[in-house]
Amino acid sequence: MKPDELSEFRTMLKLLQARLRGDVEQLQEEAFAGSEAGNESRSSNHMAEMGSDAWDLDFSLQLVESDQGVLEEISLALKKVDAGSYGLCEACLDLGKAEAKARIPKARLQAIPHARNCIECERIKENRR
Ligand SMILES: [Zn+2]
Repeated sequence: MKPDELSEFRTMLKLLQARLRGDVEQLQEEAFAGSEAGNESRSSNHMAEMGSDAWDLDFSLQLVESDQGVLEEISLALKKVDAGSYGLCEACLDLGKAEAKARIPKARLQAIPHARNCIECERIKENRR
């Protein structure tokens, strides 16, 4: 992944982390108030750049459901950013695939920045449940 892309995802992860650590009720309010909320300026510049205000809303709602688990996933993902392994599918790497073949598609990372697995591996995991 290019350094500028990596820092973009790092910013997204930090932003989500900050929100999750904040008051959940406030998060819900923000989500339902939509992108016009006054205190959104911090994040909306960045999200607007990425052209994904809708992502912001959907993701906020999703976070309310399982904030603690997601917080852990986010801090793991941030460690991977620092370690240089961010954006690689853990399951693919476990299977011995080369890094070039284990990349999680960028569109998936934009939807779920803390995703550990590519879509195929995620499906396999879900089928096993
Ligand atoms: Zn995979």
